[in-house]
Amino acid sequence: MVAKADINVESIRKDFPILQQEVNGRPLVYFDNAASSQKPLQVVQAIEDYYNNFHSNVHRGVHHLSQKATDAYEAARETVKDFINARSIKEVNFTKGTTEGINLVAHSFGRKFIQEGDEIVISTMEHHSNIVPWQMICEERGATLKVIPINEHGELLLDEFDQLLTEKTKLIALVYVSNSLGTINPVEYIIEKAHEIGAKVLLDAAQAAPHQKIDVQELDCDFLALSAHKMMGPTGMGILYGKETLLEQMLPYQGGGEMIKEVTFEKTTYNELPFKFEAGTPNIAGGIALKATIDYIHSIGWDFIEKQEADLLQYATEQISQISGIRIVGTAEKKAGVLSFLLGDHHPYDVGVILDQLGIAVRTGHHCCQPLMNRLGIEGTCRASFAFYNTTEEVDRLIEGIQRAQKMLG
Ligand code: PMP
Repeated sequence: MVAKADINVESIRKDFPILQQEVNGRPLVYFDNAASSQKPLQVVQAIEDYYNNFHSNVHRGVHHLSQKATDAYEAARETVKDFINARSIKEVNFTKGTTEGINLVAHSFGRKFIQEGDEIVISTMEHHSNIVPWQMICEERGATLKVIPINEHGELLLDEFDQLLTEKTKLIALVYVSNSLGTINPVEYIIEKAHEIGAKVLLDAAQAAPHQKIDVQELDCDFLALSAHKMMGPTGMGILYGKETLLEQMLPYQGGGEMIKEVTFEKTTYNELPFKFEAGTPNIAGGIALKATIDYIHSIGWDFIEKQEADLLQYATEQISQISGIRIVGTAEKKAGVLSFLLGDHHPYDVGVILDQLGIAVRTGHHCCQPLMNRLGIEGTCRASFAFYNTTEEVDRLIEGIQRAQKMLG
């Protein structure tokens, strides 16, 4: 691993062998990081080490391998606790990812605290995974879903948000950083306002966690969900942070092994936090790899990550703006490394296919935000999303690729 003082993109890229390949005869440019980012050697090696040397089931075994696996898995929980600055490991629930974390809260918080006539607030720019679970629980409980509108730049209309809040508002579920627009939402304001009326706040931090330090105590959010695979970690692994007092009051999400204290046919008592929400054999390799991921992020440092991504976004925005017929979708004042765009009237898919022929990976479509696309009156966008291992030379390749697509599509 490179020493912190020597951190630069060239040295970092050596940790990501996948980036060193050619696609369609050209060096790969990977700009689909918002969908899933690549994994450094250190993370892959942690998985290999676990399976090769100490795989065993966790928590239940008295034998050496089980204890070793348990220690490594639970060490990951400690690392996550520090990573998000939770008060205790009881507040760190391992999940499959953001989607599962949100569903857990919708199910367990919803069934406990949402009554008929209550209101849940989301925003126009939510990912489907922060819409559908709330629709489901609203339908089940007879509650109403309200939506914070946005302006043309893709920013929340805060005055309208204020108007949406009532004494019936029980929960606000909001994306921290929009995956399709890049908008960084003013979550501090939302949380403060919500707490004034006694409502709870869940943050969807799927796109925030890879790009900035998260401090749940400073934010004072009630729940926060993230996915490891978007922050250089393994797939099938995520975190749900919840305030202990709330988690204590909520019922388990799933029943099974691990989440119980004692089972009889008459009655079951539940395990203590965080195991109450972790039924079944967990993703042990995923947890261990997540620890390696966080260690890796710290070895690079947030200063470098934030600066590199901000520089890339600024450079890419300047360059792409010079192409005639380009429309940037998502021009919020505060943005993370996501550049969504449309090229004239061309379908994003056609542009994406041409870019792929040039070895450039971008995402096209509605990005799991169909209601947002409807609001913007478009079907979808092309989206380039940046990670700290990307370079300005790669941005130049994207710009050339878009110009080429423009010529080819006429
Ligand atoms: N929320 C946002 C903002 C996302 O970008 C994503 C992934 N595209 C999700 C939620 C869902 O994440 P996962 O599929 O890892 O559960």
